[in-house]
Amino acid sequence: MKAEKKKKIVKSIKIDVDKCNGCRACELICSAFHAAPKYSSNNPARSRIRVIHEPLKDIYVPVHAGENARAECMGRNKYTIDGKQYEECAFCRASCPSRGDFKEPDSGLPLKCDMCEGEKEPLCVKWCLVDALTYEEREEEVEEQEEPEELELGLESLADKYGLDKLKDTLARMSKKS
Ligand code: SF4
Ligand code: SF4
Repeated sequence: MKAEKKKKIVKSIKIDVDKCNGCRACELICSAFHAAPKYSSNNPARSRIRVIHEPLKDIYVPVHAGENARAECMGRNKYTIDGKQYEECAFCRASCPSRGDFKEPDSGLPLKCDMCEGEKEPLCVKWCLVDALTYEEREEEVEEQEEPEELELGLESLADKYGLDKLKDTLARMSKKS
């Protein structure tokens, strides 16, 4: 079946690595916005943007959480920047089984940037005082695809971790209690 084309507003955040000073205000505001209740706490481990510093030593690279990868990728490319070599994983946006980034620290569930749903402008962009992050919107014709809901992603991840049968038993037990 041929997917239908549809006009869609594509939201993106442009990153200027040269301007980033590593202040991590973006991590703080993102984690506070997504805390429950909203703004009740901040913990960069819960942020959907992480500022990578270690592998680069002298520059800061903000990376937004992207799609959840259920399995590790097969390849490990290496990048040479300014004469230094870096592992591809340092810049990867995926929450994947081989590293702890972009996972909710308590539950291990994958985190994904949602562009601060409901806000006029993404908060990491608003809080970046040196304009290292710039918000852009453009209209594009895209093939209509069903995006998995956050809940679906979470359940898939729990099923991967504990097995589908155990998940089903637990849900059945919980529904009896409520
Ligand atoms: S708020 Fe801006 S300057 Fe600070 S770490 Fe984030 S991207 Fe870099
Ligand atoms: S756009 Fe919002 S959800 Fe995405 S990283 Fe920035 S603050 Fe977090």
